[in-house]
Amino acid sequence: LGKRLNTAINSLTQQSAIDEQALDAVLKSVCAALLESDVNVLLVKRLRDKVKGKVLPQLEEIQAKQGQDADAMQGNKAKQIIQKAIYDELVALVDPGDAAPPAFNPVKGKTQVIMMVGLQGAGKTTTCTKLATHYQRRGLKVALVCADTFRAGAFDQLKQNATKAKVPFFGSYTETDPVSISLQGVTKFRSERFDVIIVDTSGRHRQESELFDEMRQIQDAVEPDMVVLVLDGAIGQAAEAQSRAFKEASNFGAIIVTKLDGHAKGGGAISAVAATNTPIIFIGTGEHLHDLEKFSPQPFISKMLGMGDMQGLVERAQEMALANPERQEKMMKKLEKGEFTVRDLKDQGPLSNLASMIPGMSEMMGGGGEEDVSRRMKRVAFIFDSMTTEELDSDGSLFRDSVPSAKGKEKEKEETTEKDPSNPMGLKEPNKRVLRVARGSGTSVQEVEELLAQHQMFAKMAKRMGGKNGLMGKLAARG
Ligand code: GDP
Ligand code: MG
Repeated sequence: LGKRLNTAINSLTQQSAIDEQALDAVLKSVCAALLESDVNVLLVKRLRDKVKGKVLPQLEEIQAKQGQDADAMQGNKAKQIIQKAIYDELVALVDPGDAAPPAFNPVKGKTQVIMMVGLQGAGKTTTCTKLATHYQRRGLKVALVCADTFRAGAFDQLKQNATKAKVPFFGSYTETDPVSISLQGVTKFRSERFDVIIVDTSGRHRQESELFDEMRQIQDAVEPDMVVLVLDGAIGQAAEAQSRAFKEASNFGAIIVTKLDGHAKGGGAISAVAATNTPIIFIGTGEHLHDLEKFSPQPFISKMLGMGDMQGLVERAQEMALANPERQEKMMKKLEKGEFTVRDLKDQGPLSNLASMIPGMSEMMGGGGEEDVSRRMKRVAFIFDSMTTEELDSDGSLFRDSVPSAKGKEKEKEETTEKDPSNPMGLKEPNKRVLRVARGSGTSVQEVEELLAQHQMFAKMAKRMGGKNGLMGKLAARG
């Protein structure tokens, strides 16, 4: 998606005048790219109209100024305006804002029941345990209840997960009534004064109506404080209808989108939020216990728009080469060898600008305005300054290694998480070096990790481009 958008917006540079017609053409390509990413058709239409309404007056303003500045500069300004408008609209789509139900924050000393609903295979059982672990780490007393009597082995799966995560659980091999089981489990854990009780339900029935009936019966019995729809992030356009149907049947108050690791496009998630006015609270990014991330709209859209855009980066690099041949030559040599150290990123000041030109990337780097960018650049400089020579000359992997201690890995990880004030409930435990650099530079773990992610992206690009058969060689051959 990032690439398609980039290409579309870049086509503006070739235009002498950026008028309504040019804007329409760009928006057409942008819409096609969004549709390909499984964003719902109506949403895409709405987005197009909104972006146009926002951008057109600003374009006219720029046009009025044309002639004063170089045309190319005006073109760049227009591009930024369009990128920003698209980004803002996409963020608004995954952010229901005031329309959303109030945030759900379980607290200690009060029993709160969470009920998970969703189709079979969506990731409910897996997510139950991830969520339990998440709340457990925040000091809450958490238990799991298995109300899936439909699928053979459902209880065993939950039991295994729960045991691994050291979370108390309840279920039965013999009881066949899910309503009875869930009520038994919730009553038991309520009386034992658990803070959070998570009820896992079944996702498949001979008929959809049966599934929804069962869901409502369980809901009536256990009276959950929060119903969470678990949605498979890879189902694409179907997300819209599915989330609508579940919303009618159960009026869930939050969504967790799973399987957003790998190649899921994420557009379906956007459609689900928009169709139900319900916020996404977490996303699942893998099969393991800790692969759960708190959801927030801006980074999600940035990622969706900007990451993995290798071709776009190469094109930008070529543009930069024209602007600064010397530095670029050095860079190309590096890339040909397939190497890219952390220091290379530091030395390539303009390359950071390069990244900031990719749609969404500049927002990921901390903001759109010029002031923000220069503030951010300063912070980046502090981060590099806090790295050791060894770290700067590395390929960055030592920032990702976990350092085992005598106490054992798990223990240590938990301690690290608790001690980090900038990431109080983060599930991804920061590496010790990352933590040290963040502290040393007076920045946050997130900022350091973002910079390292950026480095990794360039390093990957270098690897791909390296050698005669790499992208670089091919581009050279093309002229
Ligand atoms: P349920 O039928 O809704 O309970 O779904 P399960 O929890 O049994 O999950 C179905 C499959 O999806 C399992 O193989 C899980 O490992 C996998 N899964 C769940 N969440 C994720 C995720 O975030 N990423 C990936 N890659 N796989 C996931
Ligand atoms: Mg299940």
